[in-house]
Amino acid sequence: MSEAVKPTAAGAAQNGQSGAGEALFPTYARYPMSLVKGEGSWLWDDKGNKYLDFVSGIAVTNLGHAPKRVKEAVKKQLDELWHVSNLFRIPNQEAAAALITANSAADAVFFCNSGAEANEAAIKLARRYQQKVLGNGRYEIVTFEQSFHGRTLATLTATGQEKVKEGFAPLPEGFNYIPLHDLAALEAAVTDKTAAVMLELVQAEGGVLLVDPAYLHRLVKLCRERGALLIIDEVQTGMGRTGKLFAHEHYGIEPDIFTMAKGLGSGFPVGAMGAKEELRAAFGPGSHGSTFGGTPIATAAVKATLETILEEQLAERAAKQGEYLMNQLRAKTTHSSFVKDVRGLGLLIGIECAEPVAPIITEAQEKGLLVLSAGPNVLRLLPNLLVSKEEIDQAVTILAQLLNKRG
Ligand SMILES: *Cc1c(COP(=O)(O)O)cnc(C)c1O
Repeated sequence: MSEAVKPTAAGAAQNGQSGAGEALFPTYARYPMSLVKGEGSWLWDDKGNKYLDFVSGIAVTNLGHAPKRVKEAVKKQLDELWHVSNLFRIPNQEAAAALITANSAADAVFFCNSGAEANEAAIKLARRYQQKVLGNGRYEIVTFEQSFHGRTLATLTATGQEKVKEGFAPLPEGFNYIPLHDLAALEAAVTDKTAAVMLELVQAEGGVLLVDPAYLHRLVKLCRERGALLIIDEVQTGMGRTGKLFAHEHYGIEPDIFTMAKGLGSGFPVGAMGAKEELRAAFGPGSHGSTFGGTPIATAAVKATLETILEEQLAERAAKQGEYLMNQLRAKTTHSSFVKDVRGLGLLIGIECAEPVAPIITEAQEKGLLVLSAGPNVLRLLPNLLVSKEEIDQAVTILAQLLNKRG
């Protein structure tokens, strides 16, 4: 920065920065709209245009925008105490963890700040348990093609998509990818080197691809027989999104480790990893940590979010609304040859199309509906769990029109 340029907004303008984001890395291909206010299923831009939000910050604002109970809990904590570090006990963190363990397969919880960090913790815990508790030197993590697990070096390595890895070599060792639903590949991949098999039960970023229950049961059995841990990435599928609090409940299985983040704080940034009792000892004092993991404010948000989902039975509601949304979509596009498939679990829904969906997303925005993609040809719908039947009808009307006119 030159002497003449002061670090102020005016300085930024002198520097040729109009305030339209030139000061940011261009890591995101952003839509040219600034959203400034949100309430329930609705968002407003800085020009006063109103949008029906079927993106939910990518499955984050599961309770809609500005949910009252979470807002009150965070405001109360803002008035009392923001941060003390994990050198001290944090009552909200203990309460939030107890709520998770009381309502899930987990017996112990570690808090962090994002999905990638939660998966990073899961990978570390699996390796450390195998190597330090069991003493068998296992390190390999088996993951799946089309998966998405995050953007840190370890989690992008775990991710089964080349595009996130380009230019970041050398990548950490010990990851092995197999195609989903290929039993022979699974049999060959899980060996006495395998620390864990890690997967999403709906590959969301990968195209809203559902894991077949028979395949999953075979996978779980193989893990048990061969001493590999099972890690389920519930970062997108968790917190009621798929019609259960966690997607693995649909399959009647219990993972050794599962991860949470997106909907966990209703928009307040927070992640978490839950694991079975046997793994507790592998993460003793000094083994892992995070300065900001589970702050009083973050865990106030988690606690209020979970209480809302549980008390208002929002997972059950997501299952019902998701079924209605999928049925309506199928009914209103039956004659479309452009629509190849409508699939999903709860309110994590994909519409597979014959061609790239980017133009449809833009046209939907012009009609006041926000949706996203999951790969080039799949439209992804992620309304909040409180979305009403009327709001679903509005979205379906807009989408059916955009889809049907394409053939
Ligand atoms: C979003 C996502 C992540 C990464 O979460 P971040 O908070 O962006 O780090 C990991 N796994 C899955 C399944 C996700 O959808």
